Amino acid sequence: MLIVKKFGGSSVANKERIFNVANRCIEEYRKGNKVVVVLSAMGDTTDDMIAMANDINPDAPKREMDMLLACGEQTSVSLMAMAMASLGVPAISLNAFQVSMHTTSKYSNARFKRIDTERISHELESGRIVIVTGFQGINKYDDITTLGRGGSDTTAVALAAALRADACEIYTDVEGVYTADPRVVPNAKKIKEITYDEMLELATLGAKVLHNRSVELAKKYGVQLVVRSSLNKAEGTVVKEVTKVESMLVSGVAVDKNAARIALIGLRNEPGIAFKVFDVLAKKNINVDVILQSIGRDDTKDISFTVDEDQAKEAVSVLKENQERLTIQKIIEEENVAKLSIVGAGMQSNAGVAAKMFEALYDVGVNIRMIATSEIRITVLINLEDVDLATKAVHDKFIED
Ligand code: ASP
Ligand code: MG
Repeated sequence: MLIVKKFGGSSVANKERIFNVANRCIEEYRKGNKVVVVLSAMGDTTDDMIAMANDINPDAPKREMDMLLACGEQTSVSLMAMAMASLGVPAISLNAFQVSMHTTSKYSNARFKRIDTERISHELESGRIVIVTGFQGINKYDDITTLGRGGSDTTAVALAAALRADACEIYTDVEGVYTADPRVVPNAKKIKEITYDEMLELATLGAKVLHNRSVELAKKYGVQLVVRSSLNKAEGTVVKEVTKVESMLVSGVAVDKNAARIALIGLRNEPGIAFKVFDVLAKKNINVDVILQSIGRDDTKDISFTVDEDQAKEAVSVLKENQERLTIQKIIEEENVAKLSIVGAGMQSNAGVAAKMFEALYDVGVNIRMIATSEIRITVLINLEDVDLATKAVHDKFIED
């Protein structure tokens, strides 16, 4: 079997953890399997490097940021290869150049285009464990790119697809995907199996276990994923096309505290205004989520929407630049909001799910600011201070003990 195993930053945070991972990989190797290991940077390395960069230049060129951040993964893969060598097992570390993992040119948010498999296959054939840097790629200018925070998951899935691996295992410091964040909801349960679509919604809506593009890729190439702990042998969560158990009404509750709300007041009530507003944002690659438009009164209307907090400033500034053309009288930005979402494939065929969610929020006196739905999710925007209370209430309404 060819197995791709990815370990997150906390799983390789120190010497002891590095040897723990080395031993787990060696165990697999000794069974006669071909093992490809993908690693994140150790512990908080990436955060620390970002802080260091901000200290020198808060507006650092993205190319240089990628050049810097890619170092974290090079440290962990080389140390891992040394650990394995010390245990008498042939291993080799490779970075994005050495493998040739080609991405789009967009620094800090690149996407894989093509992965060459010759080098890795050759190393596997020679009996080595291959340890590959997560999170990084190279673009057509021969520059280093990165895939966005948490992107090592995507490296693992992309490699599994390219190598036609028999298994792709994502190891982390929790035992799998939970029905809610166990730190907030103590009775949250581990999910045994979840569909790609549900997992994609959860990952996109704030569950941090998997990079959302890794799920997108897994679905596209039919790579079955297992999310499990690097610290014990508990079974974990399987992410795949269709789950065996009947679809859960609600599989999980996700929270995104990184949301900001932008309200545009007094727009002219005429065709084309919404198009122009969102076109201006789209051209800056600003992702808009929940959108609400008021009923037009007389000759004006209001539009509000959410964006990621880190894109809020840019959104406001580009809207201000175009304020007159877009007929906006006033722009209000607010960061103390959070998105709370429920996700479940069973929702499509069940009425009353939204009512039940709103009831749970009413029970604990939480006000709903905005609402958005899709076939398998319902999202509400609430005040940031209400988020833990609301998460528990909604979770307990849908997920039984
Ligand atoms: N080291 C990168 C990050 O912290 C990538 C990853 O961990 O997946 O975001
Ligand atoms: Mg991660």
